[in-house]
Amino acid sequence: MTENEKKAVLEYIDSHKDDIVDFLCDFISQKSINLGTPGTGEEGDAQKWVADRFGGMGFSRVDRWLPDENQDRPNVVGVIEGRGNGKALILQGHCDVVPVLDDERELWTYDPWKGTVKDGKLYGRGASDTKGGNTAMFWAAKSIIDCGIGLSGDLVVESVIGEESQEGETIGAAATVQRGYRAPFAIVSEPTNCEVHIESTGVFMFELTVPGKSTHFAARNQVLYPQRHGIDHGPSVGADAIAKATLFIDLFSRLEVQWNQRWQSPTLGGGGRPLAVDKEGVGLFNINISFINGGGYIASVPGACTLSGLVSYPSWVQAEDVICEMKKKILAVSGTDDWLLENPPVFRAPVVLWKPYRLPGEHEGVRVVSKAYQEVTNKTAIISGFRGSCDATFLNDLGVPAVTFGPGSLGFGVHGPNEYVPVEEVIRCAKVYAVTALTWCGSH
Ligand SMILES: [Zn+2]
Repeated sequence: MTENEKKAVLEYIDSHKDDIVDFLCDFISQKSINLGTPGTGEEGDAQKWVADRFGGMGFSRVDRWLPDENQDRPNVVGVIEGRGNGKALILQGHCDVVPVLDDERELWTYDPWKGTVKDGKLYGRGASDTKGGNTAMFWAAKSIIDCGIGLSGDLVVESVIGEESQEGETIGAAATVQRGYRAPFAIVSEPTNCEVHIESTGVFMFELTVPGKSTHFAARNQVLYPQRHGIDHGPSVGADAIAKATLFIDLFSRLEVQWNQRWQSPTLGGGGRPLAVDKEGVGLFNINISFINGGGYIASVPGACTLSGLVSYPSWVQAEDVICEMKKKILAVSGTDDWLLENPPVFRAPVVLWKPYRLPGEHEGVRVVSKAYQEVTNKTAIISGFRGSCDATFLNDLGVPAVTFGPGSLGFGVHGPNEYVPVEEVIRCAKVYAVTALTWCGSH
């Protein structure tokens, strides 16, 4: 990469800021909703839109294929073919977005399906997760093409499906590798606050079913309090499963704090010792109770209550160890209650497991992307870890070393109302992707 080439792409991206914003707004209006379970992604139209845009950008070739013939859910790849003697780079982002829940729709200040810029923030579903990052990747490639710069290695830009539904492992990210798109380094566009995330947490889903015994609500008094001699009371009459479930809600919130106090990581913070420069927040572990499902009838003491949710854990802890500790403590808490001692709750984990990824900090790709960040911003890149799980796991698993680096943050309304991405971060990431590509692939 020459200084002139670098200058050319940086100026190109700056001078196309309005076009990049328009592109992202248009991309957001291409609804690509994924309800979150396999087979529910509706990415077809949006991916056709992406392929059409790629077609007009001047890629050497555009590949759009159906990894599953029975679903209109194509992956799309645009390749700038290198002229030889260079390394390939993959820039990958997922095109599917989570739905806007009916009861959250009114919490949105702007239409979630139409990008709106206000005070430097671009609002819309997918702005951070991950259409902002994808837009930056597409425009990084376009800047190189339009500036007439020839690359030595291939630059491979991928728009994949199924990330939100754990299908990255099958028909999404993994399918691109199976189709032959390999490289010694890849960047995934998840929102990292423009930090270079060399590892992620792992995530698993759990379910805890707390048994109760339903009875007429008017008999609640008998369930709870001693009665005159000869009148039944206590568990022989009924047991309130929702009340008993609160013991485990409390247990999980205490475990979450204890785990974060017990463990420390130089990459992910935690241990009450946040890295001063790490904007993604403290905390290695999360126990998020996502659903509480209890009771069956308005006039009954609830007969069962199920807590289900997600646990995230750092890459250097085994999911089995975390699950084993949860089991032991659930049993210990059950031992404090006569009913639960006799009728222990049923714990299922992992119901689903998303594995973490971890790339050594000394990997050359980490060095190159960090240096590109430094060159674009005059600031030192922050090396940290991603607190969710994402497609980088599947790329790493299949031998494509990958990091995540992208605009926006999981805290900017992602998977909630008023999702946004700072426009400046989209532009900054487009520049970092472009300079990374010029350095990594080589130019001539
Ligand atoms: Zn997401």
